[in-house]
Order: sequence, then structure tokens, then C-alpha cells
Amino acid sequence: MPIILSGKVARDELKRSLVAKIRALQEKQGSPLCLAIIQVGDRPDSTAYIDAKKRFAAEIGVTVRLVHFQESVKQEDVIAEIKKLDQEKEVTGIIVQLPLPAHIDKHAVIDAIDPGKDIDGISSASVRRWSAADDVESYRPWPATAYGVYQLLQFYKIDVQGKRVCIIGRSELVGAPIAAIVGKMGGVVTVCHSKTVDLVKETLAADVIITAVGKPALITAQHVRSGQVVIDVGLSDASGGKLDEEVPRRKLVGDVDFEKASVVLGEKGAISPVPGGVGPMTVLALFDNLADCARI
Ligand code: NAP
Repeated sequence: MPIILSGKVARDELKRSLVAKIRALQEKQGSPLCLAIIQVGDRPDSTAYIDAKKRFAAEIGVTVRLVHFQESVKQEDVIAEIKKLDQEKEVTGIIVQLPLPAHIDKHAVIDAIDPGKDIDGISSASVRRWSAADDVESYRPWPATAYGVYQLLQFYKIDVQGKRVCIIGRSELVGAPIAAIVGKMGGVVTVCHSKTVDLVKETLAADVIITAVGKPALITAQHVRSGQVVIDVGLSDASGGKLDEEVPRRKLVGDVDFEKASVVLGEKGAISPVPGGVGPMTVLALFDNLADCARI
């Protein structure tokens, strides 16, 4: 069996220092850190992701302010609320729970968030800032999933400097920030996507594979070789539907056929499981970002 890169183990360990950091910040500013979450509509998956964030926030002593709008809300009303939250000293960070209804321009809404409160790191201003960062640690906040992957690699002391890293997926929220962060860690990055002609050739040439697609069993025995590191960011439910975050009591699968790939990776290899791999790290990273925003 390969080494299991458990995000639960890493999260629980790193959570201790995050709690200490949050307590210290709370004492300094005289009030708890506060995360504002904007929800538009009542998608059950969004509500489940928000509930998971609320639970984690309660565990680490952060308050959550949920701002809920009806599905039919006007874009300018959502933007006006974000601008208000930008000005509020009590609000440490803001996230907009995606997806938004079709009549709302996601970019216009997200770009209303002050970069100093954009704990998802996905507004145009944030993207420009982290793209220009010299290295990973000199810039915060990074998009949470990418930073979660970074922290998982760091926790298990996986050095990607000079290594060939094949990243599958190039979305603006997930694949692209992962490619940026791994590049700044010194990895030799190849980005694959839906038009990649020979995915097997690309993955076999890599030392580290990071897959963020959302297609169960995209990566199987033929894509891997002994001794590689495989990080599975993909999250799908049992019927192959996309999930953006891990939620309890749902059967979740990643992009990797864990059993078949593990046999080939062997004991010199390493693999992150789904659930319990990148998912818990993403939530941790989000609140780590919140703590960093409190210092800005
Ligand atoms: P997305 O916007 O749908 O992007 C998927 C990416 O995969 C695209 O770049 C697409 O290529 C590429 N792709 C599609 N089919 C492919 C194939 N057959 N071979 C190679 N590449 C292919 O999804 P996303 O928002 O980036 O999310 C990616 C995955 O990460 C999803 O499973 C999502 O649930 C998961 N996720 C997990 C977490 C977590 O905490 N663990 C957080 C966020 C997201 P093109 O660009 O060419 O279309």
C-alpha cells in the first residue's frame, strides 16, 4: 500500500495552531473574527457547504454572519451588501457561496469584495496579486483549495522543487491556482485538460499527479507508476454529480480509482483519499485565510 496522505490527520494537527492564532487575534482586536457568507437562493448543496463551514467556525471560535438573499434578488443589491460588509470593521472576511443564479454575473459580485477580505482569493484583484507573488508564503490569501493542496504537500514533506508535476484541470477556481502555487514551489508544471491528447503519457512522465477534474475513475492503474505521489482534488457523488466541498453522510468519490491506482503506486508511492484528503484541507485553508485577513 502507498502512504496515505490523510487530510483529516493534517487538518487536526494544523487546526491546533490555527485555534491559537485565532485566539491571539481575538484578544488583540477585542472581538471574535467574523466570516460573512453570502448565499443566494436555497440550493441544498450550498446550504450543506455553509453548514459545514458554520460547524468548523464554531469549533475554532469564529463567528459566522450568513446573509441570505432570495433567488430572484437583483445583482446590484448583492453587490451593495458586499460593499457594506467591506466597510464593516467587525467583518474579517467575506465569501460568496457559489454557484450564483444565472441572472447574476459571478465575476461582478466577487469583484465587489475588498481583496483584504477576499478569503477565497478569487476576485480579479486577488488573482492579479497572487499571480505576481514571488513565492507561496510571501502572499496570502491564496485560493483555499490550492492552499489546502500546498499545506497537504508541506505536512507530508513532499518536496516538489524541480519535480515534474502533472496537474489535470485548469479551471480559474481550482486547477489554475493549484498550477500557480505548485509553480511557485519550484515544481516543473504540466497542465492537462479536456483537450489533452494523451493523458496517460503525461501522467506517467510525472513525479507528482494532482487531479482536479470531477470525473470518477479518470485516473486508474494505467495512468500511474510505482513511487509516484497522487493528490486527488476531484469530488463527485455516487452518481458522478459535481460537489465543491465534502459534506457528511454522502458517498463521495474522487477522480482516482483509489484501489487500482494504489496497487501500482506501491509502498514507495503516496496517495490522498477521497473523502478525507484535500477536502478537509480546503476548509482549514479557508479559515487560515480568514486569520490572515485579520492581520491585514
Ligand atoms: P470545472 O470548472 O468543471 O473544471 C474541470 C477541469 O477538468 C477543466 O479544466 C476541464 O478541462 C478538465 N477536464 C474535463 N474533462 C477532462 C478529461 N477527460 N481529461 C482531462 N481534463 C479534463 O471543475 P472545478 O471547479 O475546477 O473542480 C474540479 C474538481 O475539483 C471537481 O470534482 C470539484 O468537485 C473538485 N473540488 C474539490 C474541492 C475540495 O475541497 N476537495 C474544492 C473545489 C473543487 P477544460 O478546461 O478543457 O474544460
